Amino acid sequence: MNSEPLPLAAASRSAIPQVGLALITGSANWGLAFPEDIEIDGVKVLDRDISFETPWGQSDHWKLLEFDGSLSESGQSKRALCMYSHGNPREEIDHSCHRRAFWVLLQAGVKRVVSCSTVGAVNKAIQTGDMVINADIIEFTQTPYSLLPGRQRFDASGKQIVCASCAELLANVAKRHWPVSNRVHTIQQGLVAGHTYGPRLTTPAEAMAFRALGADIINHSIAPEATLSREIGACFVPVAFVTAGYNDYLDRSSGSLLQDGVLPRLSRTLSQIALEAAARLPDEAPCICHNLKAPQPAERYERF
Ligand SMILES: [Zn+2]
Repeated sequence: MNSEPLPLAAASRSAIPQVGLALITGSANWGLAFPEDIEIDGVKVLDRDISFETPWGQSDHWKLLEFDGSLSESGQSKRALCMYSHGNPREEIDHSCHRRAFWVLLQAGVKRVVSCSTVGAVNKAIQTGDMVINADIIEFTQTPYSLLPGRQRFDASGKQIVCASCAELLANVAKRHWPVSNRVHTIQQGLVAGHTYGPRLTTPAEAMAFRALGADIINHSIAPEATLSREIGACFVPVAFVTAGYNDYLDRSSGSLLQDGVLPRLSRTLSQIALEAAARLPDEAPCICHNLKAPQPAERYERF
């Protein structure tokens, strides 16, 4: 892999490249320079530390990646924008960062979003070290940081919030790489991710509340990523593994939640799966995601 950044001209630093694919990294990739530390031939970092101006201020720390044709289904090379969601900005907690980021992806023309994270399990059958591709989410605010241009111009569906087509391709890649000692839970299982903004981790009471509501796992970044993917008309697929189990949430005698060793053991494998799956996603996915943001008739917003 070539990790040598190729500097773009200073004048083009704020120009948003036209790409069809985005990778959002997170806690699953902690401790790694992504994708520089992942050894996959054919993945190149064209540029890094890119900043873009948005209507809500600057969005920083972007990378522009290129996958060569040996990795894609079509045999054609493709480029992707990549952003580390938990560190953007790095020095403060700003839950609105995803609105700026997905505005960038909207301008770029992105149609596929692959999002990496770690999760906790509130379903006893899901073990630490398992990989989970959930089918649905619970997030009652639907993100306060919407990108839709007004309340009535679009109908943004909550159905199929995870792209079934992308999830199937991802699962096929994951089953080739994930350790046999752990499982890959696929979208067919219909698992549900409850979302709550971090960085404070979930209390035992909150975890049990999510479980009672029907969640199988808890995720601290998936709601804005999934919702804003829908709002820009893109497919969304999460790539996640479990770092805390059911008993870890309930044990009030322990001050820590996350199990030691899971993250460093699996972060490279997860990152490799995310890159390989992203590269293989077809440009024209056989799915309905892009029709699930539907324009509304003009009379609904012009007559009042
Ligand atoms: Zn789709």
